[in-house]
Amino acid sequence: MEPFRIGPIRPPSEADSLLMQVTQGCTWNKCKFCNLYRHTKFRAYTVDSVKEDIDRMAAFARKAERSRRTDGSWDVERLNAELREMPPEEQNSYYVVATWLLNGGKNVFLQDGNTLALSGGRLTEVLRYLKETFPQIERITSYGRAENLSKVSAEEFAELREAGLTRIHSGFESGSDEVLALVNKGVTSEQQIRAGKNIKAGGLELSVYFMPGLGGRALSRKNAEGMARVVSEVNPDFVRIRTAAIKPGTELYEDYERGDFVLCSEDEKVEEIRILIVKTGDVNTRIVSDHIVNLLQAVKGSLKKDREKMLAILDEYRNMPEPEKKLFQLARRTRALISPKELARMPLRQRRQLQRAAEQISDPDEWTRTMNEWIGRYI
Ligand code: SF4
Repeated sequence: MEPFRIGPIRPPSEADSLLMQVTQGCTWNKCKFCNLYRHTKFRAYTVDSVKEDIDRMAAFARKAERSRRTDGSWDVERLNAELREMPPEEQNSYYVVATWLLNGGKNVFLQDGNTLALSGGRLTEVLRYLKETFPQIERITSYGRAENLSKVSAEEFAELREAGLTRIHSGFESGSDEVLALVNKGVTSEQQIRAGKNIKAGGLELSVYFMPGLGGRALSRKNAEGMARVVSEVNPDFVRIRTAAIKPGTELYEDYERGDFVLCSEDEKVEEIRILIVKTGDVNTRIVSDHIVNLLQAVKGSLKKDREKMLAILDEYRNMPEPEKKLFQLARRTRALISPKELARMPLRQRRQLQRAAEQISDPDEWTRTMNEWIGRYI
């Protein structure tokens, strides 16, 4: 059996999705905080090539289906035995398809960084073929760059929706034109708003990403206020919080090392999330915190119904004494706990160990740099 292509990246919410690569890399590849596809040349696969991959997936799926019992349950032992006996080059493809089917086989994520760079007709054909091959699919999602998305009309989005695309993930990161320019995002907030409105008008779900801390200390407030303005205009279904980590190997890190970019502290990033929640208007958007990079994972919910609840969690943290805040930051970043409430239940020995480690760093800038390094380990 022939293996199919699998790209490197998917959103955490697509963990159970079948990953299907229709493009490779990113059309832009110039954001100063990102080096994901730095060494990958962008490539859009032909419709025929993607259809061949779908046929390969279908072949693996047919093989896996033989391990489904008549009552719908799976003979996992048999699947595992087949996997062990396969040539190594086929194992990953079989594992991916079998796991997908075991998880319901309903969701597909189109990779890589900017699938919507494909002209509408090509993507529509791919979507139709995918749905014909796997009629049980209910959700097909993809990444799209806001600049490309801003050139697609509501009618074209409606056509993609009709062909099976259900949700677009887009890394808006900030709604501030100053921050977008600072990090060379190659898009303006006006383009983000146009893209977002057309996506929604075309009947698709929209999930956008916000990066607290991306503008550094100088643009911290503007980063959050800009995002609140864009979210208020667009009314996306989801805003996913992705706390910024400035990583070695990126241009933004070089700016930081030269002293041209000052890292935001953990508290400044928390403040940005608070500003986003306070300043966003009356929308149906859900705030999602589905990544370990976020300090306060419990800050999530509907902006319509849960605004006060989210603000209460933020304020509870903001009102903690400074040493407790530091202790919590270190504990969270080292994965010792998830919520500040757990500090009270922490074994005394572990607490003292963390306290000693925290006390060793008294300089606030060094502390911020250390926290940034910890966050960077998770992306
Ligand atoms: S558009 Fe996305 S994938 Fe491309 S360089 Fe920017 S952040 Fe990276």
